[in-house]
Amino acid sequence: MKATNQKQEHTRSYYAATVNEITNYPVLEGKKTVDICVVGAGFTGVATALTLAERGYSVALVEANRVGWGASGRNGGQIINGISGLEKIRKKHGASVDELIWDLKWRGNDIIYDRVQKYGIQCDLKSGFLEVAPKASQVRYFEEYAAEREAHNFPYKYEIWDKEQTRSRLGTDAFHGGFICYRDGHLHPLNLCIGEARAASNLGVQIFEQSPVIDIEHGDKPKVKTASGYVEANAVVLAGNAYGQFEPKVLSNLVFPAGSYIIGTERLDDKTVEEINPLDVAVCDVNEVVDYYRLSADKRLLFGGACNYSGRDPTSIKSYILPRMLKIYPQLKDVRIDFEWGGKIGIVLNRIPTVGRINQNVYYCQGYSGHGVTATHVMGEVMADAVAGTLERFDLFADMPHFRIPGSQWIGNQIIALGMLYYKVKDSLG
Ligand SMILES: Cc1cc2nc3c(=O)[nH]c(=O)nc-3n(C[C@H](O)[C@H](O)[C@H](O)COP(=O)(O)OP(=O)(O)OC[C@H]3O[C@@H](n4cnc5c(N)ncnc54)[C@H](O)[C@@H]3O)c2cc1C
Repeated sequence: MKATNQKQEHTRSYYAATVNEITNYPVLEGKKTVDICVVGAGFTGVATALTLAERGYSVALVEANRVGWGASGRNGGQIINGISGLEKIRKKHGASVDELIWDLKWRGNDIIYDRVQKYGIQCDLKSGFLEVAPKASQVRYFEEYAAEREAHNFPYKYEIWDKEQTRSRLGTDAFHGGFICYRDGHLHPLNLCIGEARAASNLGVQIFEQSPVIDIEHGDKPKVKTASGYVEANAVVLAGNAYGQFEPKVLSNLVFPAGSYIIGTERLDDKTVEEINPLDVAVCDVNEVVDYYRLSADKRLLFGGACNYSGRDPTSIKSYILPRMLKIYPQLKDVRIDFEWGGKIGIVLNRIPTVGRINQNVYYCQGYSGHGVTATHVMGEVMADAVAGTLERFDLFADMPHFRIPGSQWIGNQIIALGMLYYKVKDSLG
């Protein structure tokens, strides 16, 4: 695998500024021997490690930077059911996997709600996620969402909102309607990730930070190597997602890193909060290239959107994102922007996470195409099952064909950029 030498602290996000715990796990030094070694301490890695520890395995979790340093500690915090590409898996296998797919769709929500409660994780968890339609033609999706839930006797509350209900509850005319689901919601993702890592550590997981993995020596007992030590394990799980550069022969040109960006306003006064989001729900539009927003616990508007496939971050994130926010909320034009940050999402061409194993005992799972808060939690469980030999859900993903873009990562990103340009134009047409 390719060497990486990053060793960074958290990006200057609202989340890093309001974190519950500044983690300081040791650097990996010398030899460690465990059942399973997990590489990358974002949601995928932490969820895998925690699930394995709950099941009695000895685990080492090796992170290049800090727990939650990648997308998991920077995202919109929107808890959205599902895993991208699930519909394609269902189509491939037909009605026999219907129930399995429906369970996979909601399993991530269950895991998050259960863990927050079980481990007492303070992460501002709120229920309520609203999908909104910028175009009149998009409201038809909401009938489909409701019908799907009805068909499965979905036990949680959901509602379709018409244009007027959406306007009065969001203080904007920008949308033609909405669909709210109270099993989805929002939270402070960095505090969730750090809280889950603390729970894993309390169960005996050995966590190492500031320890970039530079090589994996394959064999019956693979060795995961950093500059100052190595972990020998029976199996390895690679969870670097858009930041990982592992095993290039197998994994390169399957997942394409794309930048996504968020701004955070100053605290809004009570009158403004009452006007723009009195129910305190997460909001995301149904476009292909989404805008999303929500209030933080201290009533800042965290507004994210756009996606940059060029591989270069914009010179000013604020200038890039603010016009999108003001299009929806022109009344916030004088509000100060206190935070601006970005992170990398891992885009897969067919939108199905790339899951598999190399040499029988090195597993990988990556590429949630920007929809990973719940999906990573399910996949953590799927990976934990797989290393223990239960492959039913793992195989659903591992068996899906993926298209590898030949040539360099740069060429791949330009192809993705072209594809997304098509969707941007499509989104902007009334
Ligand atoms: C700005 C933004 C907004 C988003 N909003 C949402 C949202 O609202 N809802 C949603 O569902 N999804 C959202 N996503 C997507 C979601 O955050 C990701 O899908 C998810 O966090 C991926 O988790 P992960 O653990 O797989 O990867 P990451 O969180 O990126 O973690 C990978 C980790 O691996 C480590 N690593 C890499 N290489 C090495 C190495 N060589 N050695 C050791 N460690 C290594 C990295 O340092 C990193 O910590 C958003 C993403 C971004 C960037």
